[in-house]
Amino acid sequence: MAKKEFKSESKRLLDLMINSIYTNREIFLREIISNASDAIDKLCFKSLTDENVGLNREDFKIEISADKDNRTLTVSDNGIGMDQDDLENNLGIIASSGSYKFKQEIGENDKENIDIIGQFGVGFYSAFMVAKDITVITKKYGSDKAYIWHSTGADGYTIEETDKDTVGTDIVMILKDNTDEDDYDEYLEQYKLSSLIKKYSDYIRYPIEMEMKRSRVKEETKDSEKPEYEDYYEKETLNSMVPIWQKAKKDVTEEEYNNFYMEKFMDYTAPLKTITTSVEGVVTYKAMLFIPAKTPFNYFTKDYKKGLQLYSSGVLIMDNCEDLLPEHFRFVKGVVDSPDVSLNISREMLQQDRVLKQMEKTLEKKIKNELTSMLKKDRENYDKFWSAFGAQLKYGCVSEYGTHKDELQNLLLFYSSKQKKNITLKEYTESMKEEQKYIYYATGESIETIDRLPVLELLKDNDFDVLYLTEEVDEFCMQALIKYAEKDIKSVLNDDLGLPEDETKETEEEKKDSEGTINFMKETLGDKVSDVVVSKKLKSYPVVLTAKGGMSFEMEKYFNTVNPEGGMKATRVLEINPNHETVKAMMSYIDTDIERAKSYCKLLLAQAELMAGVEIDNTADYTNLVLSLMK
Ligand code: ADP
Repeated sequence: MAKKEFKSESKRLLDLMINSIYTNREIFLREIISNASDAIDKLCFKSLTDENVGLNREDFKIEISADKDNRTLTVSDNGIGMDQDDLENNLGIIASSGSYKFKQEIGENDKENIDIIGQFGVGFYSAFMVAKDITVITKKYGSDKAYIWHSTGADGYTIEETDKDTVGTDIVMILKDNTDEDDYDEYLEQYKLSSLIKKYSDYIRYPIEMEMKRSRVKEETKDSEKPEYEDYYEKETLNSMVPIWQKAKKDVTEEEYNNFYMEKFMDYTAPLKTITTSVEGVVTYKAMLFIPAKTPFNYFTKDYKKGLQLYSSGVLIMDNCEDLLPEHFRFVKGVVDSPDVSLNISREMLQQDRVLKQMEKTLEKKIKNELTSMLKKDRENYDKFWSAFGAQLKYGCVSEYGTHKDELQNLLLFYSSKQKKNITLKEYTESMKEEQKYIYYATGESIETIDRLPVLELLKDNDFDVLYLTEEVDEFCMQALIKYAEKDIKSVLNDDLGLPEDETKETEEEKKDSEGTINFMKETLGDKVSDVVVSKKLKSYPVVLTAKGGMSFEMEKYFNTVNPEGGMKATRVLEINPNHETVKAMMSYIDTDIERAKSYCKLLLAQAELMAGVEIDNTADYTNLVLSLMK
């Protein structure tokens, strides 16, 4: 019998396959089982209109058997089967049956890289990653002849007639020889096989059966003191067949959803929210998404993997398909199952897939809508969500140059000084007083330290609400937002707080009065500050240190932690209240004890630095200063 060569393109692909282009070679079983399931689909469909098939829906199954002595693994199905032409056309040319024609495409692309391979369903050939010899024994429905296809790899294949009683296909794989690095015997172990089936093919619609070796007490020794054990074999169905996400919502209990989530995504805590969605249109899919109740311990490390599990009609394609989620919703876990995704293999390919893009878009919208409705209808849970993942949404506003801020801004919460709880920007603006021009925020280490900021006094007097921000990302987030509902967002340290004129502006007379003080302080402090100005924001405090321009003290701190060598420094402005007793006291020494006046001045700066949460320039100098004044 003459050996036929694989078509040349297939041969190249096969070479790559045999030399294992996938690191993940265990997926071969998924591929073979998925083909079996497709073949059953076809016959099952036929049986609906053709009585001669003689099989009912429940008669269809896939059987797995492993023979350790001969090192063979066999996958059998009672699906549609193949005749000689089918064998030639389907197994002689790679992926000829797929939606793409490998042959044509390879002509266009004319390159032999793996990307091309990834674009085609090359399922069957993946068996060559683990097998050195493959035999396909098959009988097509409606044909009275059966065939045997045989190949040991790239050098070709043979097809001969054979005998087979029943319709369907057996794929017999002789495993590769073990090497020092690779143990192929594991694909003969029932434990390994059953766990691979659970992992990749659990939701195949037909039972996947395997004879499982079990152990039991021998009947005749049951009552003796030393019972003896014996092995026995029992056929078991290894897959659960119906994916939970394919079931109607009313048929699944909350507990089942929760258990599914905890088992699949290895969390001890039930999810905060389960979202199920079914989309039909340009792309059809079902998805089941979860918002975890707690921040995963590795969430902010590079070990955390963003992504959803991707299935194609119940067959697992990817464990972590990153492209299905936007970065700002990276905390979402879940599965997506779409018949529109083909069983393609390489990540690179999936990335390009327009289908995925489309799904990402609709999933993003769904997640956003769910969060919005949680915010409106279930504030208690939203607050929990916020404490677990709120920072992620703020990062989302900042990243990609603020591209997503419009989408996310209504989901943000900030602590309100007036309401003493987290509120939305909408809630803030809705309760703004008529004469209030801006949205105010203040940053600091904690709510308590912010609350003590001297600059807040005037705002408090006006009964204006201030958002207290304690996270690193907050200030960047505010700077990205710029505005909300036509209102500018301003730091309380900003020069212009939009307060009624007479409260902040100095009169000419006052200016003249304070000129001497300002000049003295500027001279004394030198380049320690960039300016000294009179502030009318201050009431009971003598001084405050503010940052001018874009960089605040919080940002300065942040940049210096990230890059200690960077030497980033906010522009320091010392604002003074010339009517405050201590400022007056300083000025009273100008003529009598200039050194004492200078010490007072330096001390005022140090106090301002402390209040602003900025490190004092030189702690030794500061201590000496205080000690000298205590004399
Ligand atoms: P794909 O499944 O993506 O089309 P494969 O290389 O896995 O590519 O399979 C090629 C073709 O071989 C299938 O489309 C199918 O027509 C046929 N085939 C593979 N396995 C079986 C089987 N168990 N029963 C019937 N036909 C099969």
